[in-house]
Amino acid sequence: MRWLFIGGLRIKEYNPSDAFGNAISLTPYGETFAQFLRAENNDLSESEISFILFAKLYHEELFIDIPGTNVEEVENVLDNQTFEGSLIFPWISDTILYDKYYCNFNNERKTLSFEESLMLLKDTPKGVYQTGEYLVGPFGLIKSSCKRMFRPLLNIPIRSCSNPVCDNIHEIKLSQYEDSRITIGLNILYDKIRNSGIESSHWSRYSFSQFKIDENYEYYDDLRLRGFPNFLVGAFNEAEFRLILAHLIDTHSKEIRSLFPKRSEFKKLFEGDSEYIVNNLDKNCCFQLMLLLNDNKIVNAIEFLIDKNILDIPRKGYLKYLLLKIMAG
Ligand SMILES: [Zn+2]
Repeated sequence: MRWLFIGGLRIKEYNPSDAFGNAISLTPYGETFAQFLRAENNDLSESEISFILFAKLYHEELFIDIPGTNVEEVENVLDNQTFEGSLIFPWISDTILYDKYYCNFNNERKTLSFEESLMLLKDTPKGVYQTGEYLVGPFGLIKSSCKRMFRPLLNIPIRSCSNPVCDNIHEIKLSQYEDSRITIGLNILYDKIRNSGIESSHWSRYSFSQFKIDENYEYYDDLRLRGFPNFLVGAFNEAEFRLILAHLIDTHSKEIRSLFPKRSEFKKLFEGDSEYIVNNLDKNCCFQLMLLLNDNKIVNAIEFLIDKNILDIPRKGYLKYLLLKIMAG
């Protein structure tokens, strides 16, 4: 969940909320850093201090007392912030941001300021990302039946370079608001850690090794589905997404409906048959709901629709070209 909190662009008025501050429990080690932050900058609220320590998570030891933290409450905060848009996740899967970038910025820009980042993302679809079972997107935070690693980053691939023989898509770095108390507090914390001369523990490597994603295949197996969400979102358009999602709702009705977003705002959207549901959804909404089910189920749905000629797959060469393009991206 931490990757989702730190991977989104925070609006200028971003406030982690009292609920977040109350839900987070610090270790005694984390408390010493909280005291340091309070002393260094007395403008920082307690929830901001909790957010800063949560974002960094550890140095020599963990800052956060994980068993003592109210995870459900942290989930609610992430759900609200994603839904309301105080944490913004870019939708990088179509050419919307690519086109907008070229309409507004010079090709050679590799970093955008906070204001420019906000301007780029304004009125664009909400991005869909997943870490573990946590799945964020236009429906806020929902939980998938399967664990994936598809995390949001502020470096987004939307730039072609001026080298005429290079067909890679390069990254643009979006920037957080640098005068926000959270950014200032994070910099104070980073400086303290850097100046301490003490190396960070290998906790991140350990935590990563504990982060089991659902995967049936080894890395050398060509049936491995690790990059599947990237492929899926690049290979099919909105109309095709609706067909795939409708088929998934028909074939896995009980499972997928039990996982649908529970917010009252969405209740009406899901009261009906699959055709009614998908007709009201944009591509990013379909994508978030599809990822509620595991990759094998999505692959089976696509294969079924291709077999029945409901999904029309272009000639082989073009698909290969598309695949190569997505892999290169
Ligand atoms: Zn290039």
